[in-house]
Amino acid sequence: MRNDMIYMDNNATTRTDPRVVEAMLPWFTEKYGNAHSRNHAFGWEAEEAVEAARASVARAIGADPREIIFTSGATESNNLAVKGVAEFFVDRGDHFITSAIEHKCVSDSMKSLERSGRKVTFLGVDREGRIDLAALETAITDKTVLVSIMAANNEIGTVQDLAAIGKICKARGVLFHTDAAQMVGKQPIDVEAMGIDLLSLSAHKIYGPKGVGALYIRRSKPRVRLVAQMDGGGQERGLRSGTLNVTGIVGLGRALDIAMEEMETERVRMRALRDRFLSRIRANLDHIHVNGSMEHRIEGNLNISFAYVEGESLLMSLKEVAVSSGSACTSATLEPSHVLRAIGVGEELAHTSIRFGIGRFNTESEIDRVVDMLTEKVNRLREMSPLYEMVKEGVDLQTVKWNPH
Ligand SMILES: *Cc1c(COP(=O)(O)O)cnc(C)c1O
Repeated sequence: MRNDMIYMDNNATTRTDPRVVEAMLPWFTEKYGNAHSRNHAFGWEAEEAVEAARASVARAIGADPREIIFTSGATESNNLAVKGVAEFFVDRGDHFITSAIEHKCVSDSMKSLERSGRKVTFLGVDREGRIDLAALETAITDKTVLVSIMAANNEIGTVQDLAAIGKICKARGVLFHTDAAQMVGKQPIDVEAMGIDLLSLSAHKIYGPKGVGALYIRRSKPRVRLVAQMDGGGQERGLRSGTLNVTGIVGLGRALDIAMEEMETERVRMRALRDRFLSRIRANLDHIHVNGSMEHRIEGNLNISFAYVEGESLLMSLKEVAVSSGSACTSATLEPSHVLRAIGVGEELAHTSIRFGIGRFNTESEIDRVVDMLTEKVNRLREMSPLYEMVKEGVDLQTVKWNPH
């Protein structure tokens, strides 16, 4: 990899903070005990470290440590929450509610429930990516078991009104799960204040290591029950068997402590970087569209469509910047992202969309370099675009009669 590359894909994953790596190192070498070994000091010190990390996770979301179980990441936490609750409450009901913009690990878990005979409502979202609370209320029936709505979206950064969703679910006696992988450590989230019953999080989205995460499971009012999806040694109160990833868990705890300590200053810094990016790119280029909400958004995310450029060409020309596109390459066909489609971005525009994930290690000068590169590449591609030429000349493309071919 080129070492002059700029990493701006922090919604996909983040660099592990050196302070996190430092905290993890001894747990690879001198301190390699199994946290479930009860017969010697190696086990005891590992268990102590795991419990300290559990307390850090609980503190970050306003929970009790006994409500936290460790997993391999948000994918596993989401699968366990959705499928585990469905299995436990099979006699209570067969209806589930989620949104149209969830991460695949939630939406595909829901589709798996559909295949086993349950009914799932996929709520649409508005142009900013928020669900309609009235539609949620209407969708709930006496057969509804669980509502799963993500806290912040990984593509467009939109933050949902979690407290309002929690309130509706509570009033109707329905469990509320939220995939908070993009939210925890970036904006305040509190399971009590927001009426959240289950919450998934992941370490590698918050400058921790990959392959470790947690699931919060409410213990009272109501006590949430679920069926384990992994059989084995009965670790994590029987809900997640398998030897604990002590090193990763220590990293998750440290990553969360840092994120919580620095949240307010980082939010301000991140917002300044984002606003600098946006105001500069707007000053340089016309016909750009920001996808999502500027009001309800995690600070580090910017998702922008650049009209009148060929999306793939743009991405290819930005070799020096690591970003994500608005299309997912599935079996050689370019499909526009389901999230952009759900917020009403047309197929053409979706293909020109780029997600910029600004993070802890990005600097002002990197922002400026990316803006300069983008400006140059977009201008060059637009010079080759007959459509852009027409728009510049004041032609209203809606009124143009194209020759059939
Ligand atoms: C990254 C991400 C996941 C998956 O998390 P892993 O820890 O990589 O399994 C799930 N949901 C959202 C919103 C994410 O951003």
